[in-house]
Amino acid sequence: MKNLAILGSTGSIGTSTLDIVAAHPDRYRVVALTAGNNIERLAQQIERFRPQIVAVISETQARDLRERFPGQKLEIFSSVTGLIDCACHPDVHMVVSAIVGAAGLVPTLAAIEAGKDIALANKETLVTAGPLVMRKVAERGVQLFPVDSEHSAIFQSLEGHRKRDVRRLILTASGGPFREKSLAQMSHVTPADALKHPNWSMGRKISIDSATMMNKGLEVIEACWLFDLPSSRIAVHIHPQSIVHSMVEYIDGSLIAQLGLPDMRTPIAYALSYPERIALDAPSLDLCSVGRLTFEEPDGHKFPCLGLAYQALEAGGTVPAVLNAANEVAVEAFLTGQISFVNIAQVIQAALDEHEANHLEQVDDVLRADLWGRQKATQIIQSIR
Ligand code: NAD
Ligand code: MG
Repeated sequence: MKNLAILGSTGSIGTSTLDIVAAHPDRYRVVALTAGNNIERLAQQIERFRPQIVAVISETQARDLRERFPGQKLEIFSSVTGLIDCACHPDVHMVVSAIVGAAGLVPTLAAIEAGKDIALANKETLVTAGPLVMRKVAERGVQLFPVDSEHSAIFQSLEGHRKRDVRRLILTASGGPFREKSLAQMSHVTPADALKHPNWSMGRKISIDSATMMNKGLEVIEACWLFDLPSSRIAVHIHPQSIVHSMVEYIDGSLIAQLGLPDMRTPIAYALSYPERIALDAPSLDLCSVGRLTFEEPDGHKFPCLGLAYQALEAGGTVPAVLNAANEVAVEAFLTGQISFVNIAQVIQAALDEHEANHLEQVDDVLRADLWGRQKATQIIQSIR
């Protein structure tokens, strides 16, 4: 039996994880759940999965939950310390890190420090603090399993191979809903248009990141830390069918890829069950009915966020944390109608231009850069409105 803490249990990844737990009650037990705002859904999850401990953001929400579940053996906490208590609970074996945004960093790092294995969906953890996180993973001897479908595909394609035989990694990207639009057309798109991802159903923030291609940029940074390779050896191919989830090219010219229908339960299940595979009620991939798999170069002119992420990765230090923070603020501003879609990249670029990079020695350096990036992006947004 593997005991899980699911951070961000009410989100897209969190609920898919709970679907897998529900299908395999002989393998997985939920010890801890945490959520941001969706308290109704969290209450249903508590009824269904009977965790020992839960955490929410505000104390008001925690009090509300305590009233709903009186006299039960359930501890209910709030704020970041509550998240940390869930992530570090002594009964937990593995933490599913599925909070969205930089808010996932502190509890994930605490879980690593406490010696828990991690199933990592929260890519912002490695984007903002890659070197610190990987150092801590090595020090504590924990295992870090990728949940992001591209990184899971690479992880699977590396199995049984020697790292020194890898020539490069190729991350695939669907290209998002605006792949065929011109820049002029993109300046008029609405949040509803941008949220309509062609192949995947995901949370709001990552859906917008997919539309700007910042998601792929964040994934390049994530891949660099997970697989210990420089940005020059990580390429991106647009693959609109989202069937080939990513590939590893070896020094003899071989490409090893992992394919499947776009269903996040597959990479989540692999992270939970590694090195075994567990059955999912997923349909077979019928390649004959898919017919054609196509690949093309990303258009850096139309999707500048991808290039900004590569630049931030190469600059290193605090720069990726600022890239991420400015992106989170800009995406929220777009979703709330304050800026246009094409402004997102402009806000991030302007924030990066003003940032003086620092080294990352400790997590406080990341948190300071994150705060700086948020404040700077907010100022920039006010100036363009
Ligand atoms: P989501 O918005 O659907 O869910 C986010 C979860 O985090 C919710 O439970 C929410 O309540 C909680 N949360 C939000 N802000 C919080 C805060 N400040 N403090 C504590 N909890 C908070 O997001 P998602 O699509 O499930 O994505 C989660 C993470 O997984 C992201 O980092 C995303 O990039 C990554 N990811 C998602 C997918 C996908 O298919 N959805 C695929 C690959 C990677
Ligand atoms: Mg992905």
